[in-house]
Amino acid sequence: MAKIAMKFGGTSVADLDRIRNVAKLVKKEVDRGNQVAVVVSAMAGETNKLVKLINDLDPQYDPKEYDTVVASGEQVTCGLLAIALGALGVKARSFLGWQMPMKTSNMHASARIEGVPPENLNACLESGTVAVIAGFQGVAEGERISTLGRGGSDTSAVAVAAAIKADLCDIYTDVDGVYTTDPRITSKARRMEKIAFEEMLEMASLGAKVLQTRSVEIAMQHRVPVRVLSTFDPDAGGTLLCDEEDIVEKKPVTGIAYSRDEAKISLMKIPDRPGIAAAIFGPLADAGINVDMIVQNVSDDGKRTDLTFTCPRTELARALKALEEAAEAIGYREITSDANMAKISIIGIGMRAHPGVAQKMFKTLSEKGINISVISTSEIKVSVLIPEEYVELAVRALHSVYELDVA
Ligand code: ASP
Ligand code: MG
Repeated sequence: MAKIAMKFGGTSVADLDRIRNVAKLVKKEVDRGNQVAVVVSAMAGETNKLVKLINDLDPQYDPKEYDTVVASGEQVTCGLLAIALGALGVKARSFLGWQMPMKTSNMHASARIEGVPPENLNACLESGTVAVIAGFQGVAEGERISTLGRGGSDTSAVAVAAAIKADLCDIYTDVDGVYTTDPRITSKARRMEKIAFEEMLEMASLGAKVLQTRSVEIAMQHRVPVRVLSTFDPDAGGTLLCDEEDIVEKKPVTGIAYSRDEAKISLMKIPDRPGIAAAIFGPLADAGINVDMIVQNVSDDGKRTDLTFTCPRTELARALKALEEAAEAIGYREITSDANMAKISIIGIGMRAHPGVAQKMFKTLSEKGINISVISTSEIKVSVLIPEEYVELAVRALHSVYELDVA
């Protein structure tokens, strides 16, 4: 007997037929003699609809009430799945965030999980009942409902798996695994059998949308074996997240991620003296802007220099406003911005042992006439900022050059 956590995303529970299909997949695990905890997302499109209702009513909403509204999508699907399981003769009960309880921080709309006491879930499983859990939601201080940020059901599932010490956490989605890059950009993308936690963490945070980044962090921290597989073709193989040591062939690059929604801001002729970076990034931090890549030039006269950084496109207007308000304290001569940038990243644990990986990327992009405006690196990734219109071209070229294309 094993303890299994299963998670089904929005497309897997999009209508009643699909919920019945999920119930069958759960029943299969139960029939094998396993204890099963299932985490579900809201029906596809439901969370977007709820977010829109809130924004249409008042864009200056209270995040606590936002959470009350958006958490409702998962309440519906966990109840429906429990009913569908009952109809198949499988004992099941629903759990909302507060009933487990899934305790979170007070950062409403993007709360972090603080702990899941396993007693209630274990009691349910030990009585031979499937625990059907509403993903995405938890409970914060004052017994307020909280949510974990978009895509947060992945994180709920991995946290539940860690809490009940599950032998496996299966994330069922609409693709049959993690791909070397987005298959919508190139049909030559390949499914990976295995990916190291570290690589998956980079892939997720650099734009691959399969898993919420935080879920990978928790899986890595608690060594939860996570599999990503397709609800519609569960026997297709999937991708296993595992330790680096479990990967035999360490290619220099195993995946290519991209994110389109980047903006770039340049501050020209800022004074080249201590305290200027703090004068720039202080107001941005206060305004809640997520600054990502940063480059500062050396000044040729030792007096003035230029600084460029990136932030999400949706935050550009607020970032510019914060900088304009701080203009006097910073002392820049000119500010320019470009809202149409994208970030392309190559990722691979094998990069540590292979020199020249970044150079190959730069050369490939230059041969395609693509100009790089910012570069950032870590031990296992290289990211470049390029004009958004070149995303497809860049991804396809890099995918070939690092020999990731399907044969
Ligand atoms: N329903 C939530 C969302 O769309 C959480 C999830 O699906 O993971 O973001
Ligand atoms: Mg998702």
